Amino acid sequence: STPTTRELIELSERHSAHNYHPLPVVVREARGAWVTDVEGTRYLDCLAGYSSLNFGHGNPVILRAAQEQLQRVTLTSRAFFHDRFAAFCQGLAELCGKDMVLPMNTGAEAVETAIKVARKWGYEVKGVAPDQANIVVMEDNFHGRTTTIVSFSTDPDARDGFGPATPGFRIVKYGSAEAVREAIDENTVAVLLEPIQGEAGVLVPPAGYLAQVREICDEHDVLFIADEIQSGLGRTGDTFACDHEGVVPDMYVLGKALGGGVVPVSAVVADAGVLGVIKPGQHGSTFGGNPLACAVGEAVVGLLATGEFQARARELGALLHERLRGLIGHGGPGGQGVVAVRGRGLWAGVDIDPSLGTGRDVCEALMRRGVLAKDTHGSTIRLAPPLVVSEEELNWAIDRLAEALAEL
Ligand code: PLP
Repeated sequence: STPTTRELIELSERHSAHNYHPLPVVVREARGAWVTDVEGTRYLDCLAGYSSLNFGHGNPVILRAAQEQLQRVTLTSRAFFHDRFAAFCQGLAELCGKDMVLPMNTGAEAVETAIKVARKWGYEVKGVAPDQANIVVMEDNFHGRTTTIVSFSTDPDARDGFGPATPGFRIVKYGSAEAVREAIDENTVAVLLEPIQGEAGVLVPPAGYLAQVREICDEHDVLFIADEIQSGLGRTGDTFACDHEGVVPDMYVLGKALGGGVVPVSAVVADAGVLGVIKPGQHGSTFGGNPLACAVGEAVVGLLATGEFQARARELGALLHERLRGLIGHGGPGGQGVVAVRGRGLWAGVDIDPSLGTGRDVCEALMRRGVLAKDTHGSTIRLAPPLVVSEEELNWAIDRLAEALAEL
């Protein structure tokens, strides 16, 4: 007989490291904005693979590109060229308004790549003394899990016990352009930030912040690196979250939705004056820029070039935020359940009163009602449905959230 949810969870817990605390649902298949578990129960996916599934599960355009490529060639390594590489790199560079792409696989690898490129640019172009480069980063950042990246995390869970830390980072308050200006010295090569902080709870910085950081970087000959791994590729109602302030960073760091929810695809995108510092043998990845990844990535770039997904995120995002704001003060016995709502486009963080329960409690109550979402940092519920979600489905999910909050 086919194993049950309980059996599969028990087996998983016995034979895998407990580095996650998943909701107790075992997914067997998915289409569009919906997933189905092993017992046949359907759920509306309001996490979308932490924004990797912007185009929906099993998007037909992406699946077709992947399936055609699977039949032809999937891996060459970068030792040789392949016929899907040029079109992907050209298309992505054009989408970003930049010259060049350096493809990798995961988000953390792309962030590591951006750090290496910025340091090398600092030594070779800016003229920083050897090994003296520093990079300004933000409190409550999330850029991935590698040893260097967790070295400048301010989350004790992410950082503690994994030292010694990589030096060369200066942590400043997120949202304060003045703090960035004060941290910069002659050895600063880059400012690295998320234009909206995702894992921190979908924190939107004050209006004008990104534009001010851009100016400060220009004044001091410092690279502006935007980690748009979670915020980019349509999620916020524009191609990039930086677009909302008309800001163009020196380096875009992309991942997640770039792989269409099918394969890991990440990239650093910048002009030749920046990415050109990397010469043969100085950086690489066996799987980075492989034919399957490029075929999928090219399909993703094609979907974004239509503007259709950005428009959906913008329009449905307005509905989402209007309805979520209506929930402030709703839920719990005294009607004080929701204390704050943040976000942009189809991306929201909903803070609940921690004295009433945890974000996890709400996510479990949502799950019982057929909606999958994930808490972050204790009392925040993060909502990020696939951009293919319909207005009706979105309204239905928010109705379920209102019910779950009433249970607090
Ligand atoms: N940067 C940001 C802004 C992210 O949200 C994430 C993942 O959540 C990462 C980097 C790391 O990406 P990955 O998990 O693919 O290494």
